[in-house]
Order: sequence, then structure tokens, then C-alpha cells
Amino acid sequence: MDELAPTYFYPNRMGRIVLLAMEEILGRSGVNAVLNLASLSNYISNYPPHNQDLSVPFETISRLQAALEDAYGPRGGRGLALRAGRACFKYGLREFGAELGPTDLALRFLPLPTKLKVGSEAFTGLFNRFSDQRVRLEFDQGHIFWNIERCPLCWGRHADAPACHLAVGLLQEALYWVSGGKFFNVEETRCIAKGDAACTIVIDQNPMG
Ligand SMILES: [Zn+2]
Repeated sequence: MDELAPTYFYPNRMGRIVLLAMEEILGRSGVNAVLNLASLSNYISNYPPHNQDLSVPFETISRLQAALEDAYGPRGGRGLALRAGRACFKYGLREFGAELGPTDLALRFLPLPTKLKVGSEAFTGLFNRFSDQRVRLEFDQGHIFWNIERCPLCWGRHADAPACHLAVGLLQEALYWVSGGKFFNVEETRCIAKGDAACTIVIDQNPMG
């Protein structure tokens, strides 16, 4: 058995969403350059199809993140990953809206803390049910802790600082949607890539401004 064989996967749909979002932010030539840099040229003009097959290895997702930083520098790559994460939510809603559960109409009349709880639980369920990513939620007074215990974004990576910027952007946009247009402080405080047990993204439940 090859020890390097991929073990964990995203469904094709999620891999497709990541590439569509990166293309929106980087342009077609930008995403092709990143795919070449990541030794993933097999995906050029050949994005994963619209299905639920678990065929996109975690290595693919993390190599894309690393290649973004290689191509644009750590700061530039971080900014682009955040923006790509926000764009992922839009494509994700299109792909997974039905499975997500609560609609914007159903959420509209709930108080904000309930909206955030219902929304974050539904979003967690999406990853835990349809992919090999594992997310465990914790709550305290005023915060939601989004603990990614098996993380495709930094899979196999080593970094001095948290590296899963795409997830931060994704959650920022998800919170904007679920709250009906509010902005929240979202920060990754722990990351498996720097030796922590999980990638922890802390959400301040009080909107900014
Ligand atoms: Zn991570």
C-alpha cells in the first residue's frame, strides 16, 4: 500500500466550487498559473464535475493554497484566499442551497444569536456529511469556535502562522448572508499547519460597526 496515496477527499462539487471561486478572483489565466505551479495542470479547463463523488484529495486543496502564496507572496496570497473564500460561499449556496436547510426567508425572523447558531450548525453539517472534512462547533458567551479537526486547506503543510484563509473568507460571507447583511470579526487563532490540534476559527458574535 502506497503511504502517499490520498486518504481524505472533498466531493467533486466542493472542489469545483473552490476552483470557480479562484477563477472569479484571479481570472482564468491566474488560476491556470496557480494550477501549473501546484503541479495540478490536469485541472486546467477540466474542473471537477457537479457530483458528490469523493474524488478531490485534500492534497489538491492544500497545494492550491500553497501555490497562491508562492505566486503572490504570503500577504498577497492571503488576501486572494480570503476573497476566494467569500466567492466560494456564493457558488456553494448555488450548489448546496437545498441541502443547507434553512433558507434566508426562514432565518429572517429569528433573533441574531439564533440565526448564528442555526446557520453555523447547518454549515457544519454540510462539511461533516458530504466531505471528509470534520468540523466541531463550540460556543461561549459571545463567540463561536469553528474547529476544523481534519482540514483540507492546510493538509500536509507547515507554517509559522495560521494558513487557512479561505475558510475565514468563507465564514465571513456565510455570516453576512445568515445575518441579513452584517459583518463579523472572524479570525483563525490555531492551525494544524503550525502544530495545533485543530484549525480554530473564532467568530465574534457581536457584529462590527
Ligand atoms: Zn487548516
